[in-house]
Amino acid sequence: MAQISNRKTVILGGSRGIGAALVRKFAGAGDRVVFTFAGSADAAAALSAETGAEAIRVDSADRRALTAAIAAQGPIDLLLVNAGTLVMGDPLESDADAIDHMIDVNVRAPYHASVEAARTMPDNGRILIIGSTNGDRMPFAGGGAYAMTKSAIQGMVRGLARDFGPRGITINAIQPGPVDTDMNPAAGPMAETMHGFMAIGRHIHASEIADYAAFLASPSAAMITGSMQTIDGGFGA
Ligand code: NDP
Repeated sequence: MAQISNRKTVILGGSRGIGAALVRKFAGAGDRVVFTFAGSADAAAALSAETGAEAIRVDSADRRALTAAIAAQGPIDLLLVNAGTLVMGDPLESDADAIDHMIDVNVRAPYHASVEAARTMPDNGRILIIGSTNGDRMPFAGGGAYAMTKSAIQGMVRGLARDFGPRGITINAIQPGPVDTDMNPAAGPMAETMHGFMAIGRHIHASEIADYAAFLASPSAAMITGSMQTIDGGFGA
């Protein structure tokens, strides 16, 4: 990736999975990367040592802590909101507090973080939020609440694109299909079912999501905003 001079990049939820791939990609391109984590202190420290990125513990479910951390990092050129949780299961049996926590992390945090970052973001800055192909399609039972959180991101980026567009700031959702991470292992019990929904029946590599993010964060993507960028191997086709 061509280096964009001295870019300040903040990645929410960077310690593992897709987030760690984003840290590697953008730190490797020469960005000044700061990433957050919640529970995985050892993984965060190891990634920091590997990449030179700075790791800070910030729980995305804590709005005040999150917005204070964003404000302290500003001005931010590129904000990547990756932190997310997945609660699946029979809605009649689900723990309501776990559902609300998922809404806090997957919906409230991306909104408040994006708005806070935009306060001081320079013109032509970039905001990318990791949604999911499940924002468009939820082809099996037990995923209603998760799909709701990812559909909410769609409305968020459409609306905020209008607010930030006059400054050249773009905001988009990246909507992955199954990605091989702790959340959704390629060898997990649901893998075969998910591959059955895909045109290309394999899990996506986290690095493939990071490669796509790098394009969307580049000057070449200046006119892509308010959009859903789906990378799902045809899961939703
Ligand atoms: P993982 O569970 O593998 O990793 C989640 C990351 O988010 C970790 O770095 C974790 O940090 C961080 N995180 C979780 N909760 C919080 C929190 N409250 N505060 C700060 N950081 C937090 O997930 P994936 O990499 O698979 O998923 C990343 C994103 O991609 C999520 O938004 C997910 O919904 C989305 N996605 C994933 C797909 C998949 O198939 N894997 C498909 C489509 C979308 P820590 O461990 O330190 O808590």
